[in-house]
Amino acid sequence: MVYSKCPACGCEQFYVKDPDDEYEIYEFECRDGEVCFDKGLSADDCPEVSDDMEVFCNVCAWHDKFHKLK
Ligand SMILES: [Zn+2]
Repeated sequence: MVYSKCPACGCEQFYVKDPDDEYEIYEFECRDGEVCFDKGLSADDCPEVSDDMEVFCNVCAWHDKFHKLK
């Protein structure tokens, strides 16, 4: 299994912001290039993460487009 890591700190936890509400965030791990959201979130609640979506590291200040992780 391949985990995508933050290029700055190496952590595997990221989040995206809700496109409709910047104060709403969704945490996920990136495994094999697949987005795995928190178990507490239902699939219906999670946004589609596209390659050009901005993703944020959960630990440090890194953020960039999703395709940069892969
Ligand atoms: Zn980081």
